[in-house]
Amino acid sequence: MTLMHRSPIFGPVKSRRLGISLGINVMPDDGKWCSFDCVYCECGLNKDHRPSKPLPTIEEIEYKLRERLKAMKESGEDLNTLTFSGNGEPTMHPKFPEIVDKVLHLRDEYFPKAKVTVLSNSTQIHRKEVFSALMRVDNALMKLDTVSPEYIELVDQPAGKYDVESIIERLAEMNGHAVIQTMFMKGNIKGKDGNMVSVDNCKDEYIEPYIETLKKIKPRQVMIYTLDREWPTEGLEKASRETMDGIAEKIRKAGFDTSVSY
Ligand code: SF4
Repeated sequence: MTLMHRSPIFGPVKSRRLGISLGINVMPDDGKWCSFDCVYCECGLNKDHRPSKPLPTIEEIEYKLRERLKAMKESGEDLNTLTFSGNGEPTMHPKFPEIVDKVLHLRDEYFPKAKVTVLSNSTQIHRKEVFSALMRVDNALMKLDTVSPEYIELVDQPAGKYDVESIIERLAEMNGHAVIQTMFMKGNIKGKDGNMVSVDNCKDEYIEPYIETLKKIKPRQVMIYTLDREWPTEGLEKASRETMDGIAEKIRKAGFDTSVSY
């Protein structure tokens, strides 16, 4: 089972981490487009969900968002955040920076107290215009599942060249604006050579360098979570509540505000 989102606006949904969230999906509704191909992605694996429709245009996103915000305001609904998420990596939309500005503008007009949040896998932060757009939103939730290139290769499966060290440098250049989001899980999955490999980023050998890296990045918050609804790969397991609490405790001890979702 996988979960595709409507496009360009879906919800509002009650999010584990963000409260009442109106989703902005800058990808088509019939597939997924992402620079990662995480084995745990609730939208499924890239090869099984290639979209056939075009990306929504900036005009379409603006029109549909205005319409929805206007209706929500008129019916007295609450809204905590407008969230770029959905079927893939939002920063890959070529007009992402302009869309961010439209969304900030509409937020100010209809729900000035709501936040604007972007869920990003961090792969596009080397692009100047993406970097500055992420600096303009209230919550830039940047994925960093581990600092181990081998684990990233197996679990996040970057589609192109990915250098975790340069991503970490860019995250540090966000000067405390980034919120780091990390998925902890374990399991047995098929490696590139077809053999089964055991993965587990909850182990100390992963946690220690991860925390050292957080000290370099200095995020304003850390959000850790484990598998929740649907995932497309057999052999994955949620991290237990006890494991998650243990990891959160270590991150807090290092001085970071940390939230946990089970
Ligand atoms: S980065 Fe997000 S959208 Fe992309 S594959 Fe991973 S979980 Fe799915």
